[in-house]
Amino acid sequence: MSSVGSSVDSRYQHTKQRGIPKRCNCGKEVHLFTSTTVKNPGRLFHCCPMGSEMDKTHLFKWTDKSVVEEIEDFQDLFDVLLVDNSEFQKSVRASEIMLKRHKSILEEMEDAIARCEENSIECIRELRIIKALFVCCFAMVFMYLTYA
Ligand SMILES: [Zn+2]
Repeated sequence: MSSVGSSVDSRYQHTKQRGIPKRCNCGKEVHLFTSTTVKNPGRLFHCCPMGSEMDKTHLFKWTDKSVVEEIEDFQDLFDVLLVDNSEFQKSVRASEIMLKRHKSILEEMEDAIARCEENSIECIRELRIIKALFVCCFAMVFMYLTYA
């Protein structure tokens, strides 16, 4: 490759943009045109107002190539979204399994609390009986000591 050729290529690379271009590197907004040449009749292209197909310093890009790049980028994005969605689905399934486990643990805890409440009620009932017996015994001892 000659030094002149690489110089032109590097300037062209400088102005090259992926997808549908919006602005030339010179700062001017690019516009959509229709080719009237014999070689490309009716073919759409985006071009800087200062540029042309032959001028590599300003933006010139065939629109069909831009659209293909847009579609390729969209496909890449779509592939990423598919992978992300797949990961998200796995995460949702794992969360659902964890939620079922937590519900099961919660039900076990509710059963344990219900059993504790039943035991507490039974304990209170037994304490009342013991208290009544104690009062009764105390009264009997008091009466025995008083009247014996
Ligand atoms: Zn330009």
